[in-house]
Amino acid sequence: MGKESLGVKETIEMMKHVASVIIESEPILTDADRNLGDGDHGLGMERGMNAVINKLSESEADEVSDVFKMTGMAMMSSMGGASGALFGTLFRNGGKALEGEEKFDSKGLHSFLEAANDGVKSRGGAIPGDKTMIDALEPASIRAGEVSEMPLCESIKIVAQSANEGKNNSKEMIATMGRAKTLGEKSVGHPDAGACSVAIIIQAMSDFINT
Ligand SMILES: [Mg+2]
Repeated sequence: MGKESLGVKETIEMMKHVASVIIESEPILTDADRNLGDGDHGLGMERGMNAVINKLSESEADEVSDVFKMTGMAMMSSMGGASGALFGTLFRNGGKALEGEEKFDSKGLHSFLEAANDGVKSRGGAIPGDKTMIDALEPASIRAGEVSEMPLCESIKIVAQSANEGKNNSKEMIATMGRAKTLGEKSVGHPDAGACSVAIIIQAMSDFINT
């Protein structure tokens, strides 16, 4: 039975599920970064998500915003590099936008993704079409605004699909920022590894919310 909103405990369980799916996806993310970058993205994300599981297991979150802020801080402090800063910013800024909210619902999903997208854009400097994680995150954020009146179990499916389409669209882009910018036209044909991570994260959220 799909959920219409999540409380604090369910949000913690959702993020632990997301973390375990990213850890399982390490070989996929490593391959994706090997095609276009230095190949360290999968192991970095695995390290970050192990830190997230530890942090969420030992810390007390008072509200849903804390769960996402803790996720972001655990990634920032454990991963290092551009991915640590950018994925840390995604969750920390997204979490800040939910301060004071008792539940994570469709409106919260939109607030979270909008703040996450704005935060990553201003931190990294990429815009849509540069072949970065923004190419999955921005379409997801825009779609979340369009479906924010639906129950969370429905909206999250649609938003996950948008992130996945954005990731697929990044295949045909010529990298002008991020891991593959020195490859130029040679970057065409592969999706961006950061966009792959964003799509996997949102799909894992959707799968948790719909079980
Ligand atoms: Mg890399």
